[in-house]
Amino acid sequence: VQEKIQSEKTYQTQCPYCSMQCKMAVVEQKSATKTSYKTIPVDNPTSEGRLCVKGLNAHQHVMHRDRIKQPLLKSDGKFIPVSWEYALQVMKDKFQEIQMEYGNDAVSVYGGGSLTNEESYLLGKFARVALQTKYIDYNGRFCMSAAATAANQAFGIDRGITNRLSEIEQTDCIILVGTNIADCQPTIMPYFERAKENGTKIIVIDPRETATAKLADLHLQLKPGTDAALANGLLKLLLEVKAIDETFIANRTNGFGELVDHLSSITIDDVVEKTGVAYEDLQRAANLFGNEERGMIFTARGVEQQTDGYMAVRNFLNILMITGKIGKIGCGYGAITGQANGQGGREHGQKADQLPGYRSIENQEHREYIANVWGVKEEELPRKGVSAYEMMEKIHEGEIKAMFIMGSNPIVSNPNATYVKDALEKLSFLVSVDMFMSESGKHADLILPTTSYLEDEGTMTNLEGRVMHRPASKEKPGQTKHDWEILCEVAKVLGKEEHFSYSTVEDVFNELRVASRGGIADYYGMTYQRLMEGDGLFWPCPSVDHPGTETLFEKEFHHEDKRSRIIPVTNEADFRKERVSEKFPLYLTTGRVMSHYLSGVQTRKSAALAARDVESHVQIHPETASEYGIDENVLVCVESQRGRIIVRSQYSKNIRKDTVFIPFHWGDSQNVNDLISNELDPTCRMPGFKVAAVTVSAVDQF
Ligand code: SF4
Repeated sequence: VQEKIQSEKTYQTQCPYCSMQCKMAVVEQKSATKTSYKTIPVDNPTSEGRLCVKGLNAHQHVMHRDRIKQPLLKSDGKFIPVSWEYALQVMKDKFQEIQMEYGNDAVSVYGGGSLTNEESYLLGKFARVALQTKYIDYNGRFCMSAAATAANQAFGIDRGITNRLSEIEQTDCIILVGTNIADCQPTIMPYFERAKENGTKIIVIDPRETATAKLADLHLQLKPGTDAALANGLLKLLLEVKAIDETFIANRTNGFGELVDHLSSITIDDVVEKTGVAYEDLQRAANLFGNEERGMIFTARGVEQQTDGYMAVRNFLNILMITGKIGKIGCGYGAITGQANGQGGREHGQKADQLPGYRSIENQEHREYIANVWGVKEEELPRKGVSAYEMMEKIHEGEIKAMFIMGSNPIVSNPNATYVKDALEKLSFLVSVDMFMSESGKHADLILPTTSYLEDEGTMTNLEGRVMHRPASKEKPGQTKHDWEILCEVAKVLGKEEHFSYSTVEDVFNELRVASRGGIADYYGMTYQRLMEGDGLFWPCPSVDHPGTETLFEKEFHHEDKRSRIIPVTNEADFRKERVSEKFPLYLTTGRVMSHYLSGVQTRKSAALAARDVESHVQIHPETASEYGIDENVLVCVESQRGRIIVRSQYSKNIRKDTVFIPFHWGDSQNVNDLISNELDPTCRMPGFKVAAVTVSAVDQF
């Protein structure tokens, strides 16, 4: 007999688990003996009323009994609950003691791409004004840095998708490079499915035949790490068949001549050998894309998370520019952001080199503008620091002594994980702001309990560059506080109250609007009211009567001369990329599974999601497995130069025989980032998560 529902409450919100930011409602029903929850989709122009399995179960971690609800201080190796007053006092004493002895930069800040826009903004201000440290960076470095740098350099602006998602159905050919949207952003898939029904040709470039690749008319199953070379092959063939837009090249680009010269030194045979993709397939791809009127290219972490990720993405942007397929309806570029606020999180100053509004921390005019908004002297603003992984190196070198982590789990998300764990262990003082005890939190001296998406209101910028208001009305559990409140309270005890006196999150947003005014990511025209009443607004939106900018580059690019930049890219854009060898004869590539998000801290607490993928695995071709004596569904040791992990074998004919795949959502002995090298892209400082050389053995063999 079903119990009578005594009360019902509905929380309007957005799914916290990816950049689609699908709108949804969580319904709380109370009966005499229990409280139950269900999640229902809510219509909006981006997700069109869809939710994937993650969204449908996203309420589960919020209600989990393991939520941290009180500040925890480590004493004799154990965490004990303390009051906020005491926690703040300890933080003040520690930060000030360390900064007095070693200087301001001895305290560092590490942020996350899932924070709201307001919290991303405030974290950057907190580092530069409250702590006055140059050391701040965030996990988005591992997410968007290659694509963002490439788009900035090529077009002068970085916004995830240069046009509307709905234009996917208005294009003729789509190239998807290193993006498994079917598993990572499932609610975007219908756009591509409908396009295909309309006759759009889809080309997928990926070492694995993913669920996304199954949709393709042509799948180029390249060797991991050879994306830049593959793009060169396509460019060369496009030139050969003259499938280029000479008018666009002449009127709207620079650098075409250099590209032509460079391509003359590249042979298709070399591209075929490097990529492992047959000449006929390359030719077919070039013909499909080049001969169509309209085309779009999407990239994601598969191509970007490499030590030449920046150059590889630029080479795909070269394809758009020489074919003139950008800045028109049904033509454009999309970097499919992974993190919930991967777009907004990179616009407001969490990055080492950046101030709000995508301003540069090294530009005098930008520094003066932001110093004025913040009410400080320009010379008081710190200079540029280093990237997320490089902060770990600064800890080992003794330059950083303390770290304040908000919304991130660096031990699972950084490469060379054991080195990162040792770094956190070495700190004199580590603070972690989190909902759960993460792998990194275990090494903290102090943990501050924060709120979830159902409790924390704010704005998020989705993968389209659409800024959306996320309401939140669920009461804060226990003594948890919102991230923005925590930052204000810490700033206050550090004596910086005058710069952090906000009463509401809207107050923070209003300051962010002013800080972004005139910058690339201009939010000035977006009032809270406009965002609350509508379906969100695309930036740039420079005035309150501006409708927002849906399609970019229709008339001009954002460089001073209004033209885009083509550059030559070598086949081997990074010679440090790991090669397979006799000792480590297989390529390892990493990625996501549908049921988990980032380092798994939240999704591993959801019973429904954890049940779908309770542990990590290594996807391996059955013929490769047989060669190495590995049965299906057994524990396997996977080893690289850095270390070894143990994961369960999963046979699949969808992966190249020279490659294995392991997802990155688990820590400890299943942490695949223990196998990944510390080499970084020289331009954007992205680690090479997508290519490592490994060997595999059945567990009983070692
Ligand atoms: Fe939507 Fe992404 Fe959440 Fe799935 S994980 S419901 S696609 S926001």
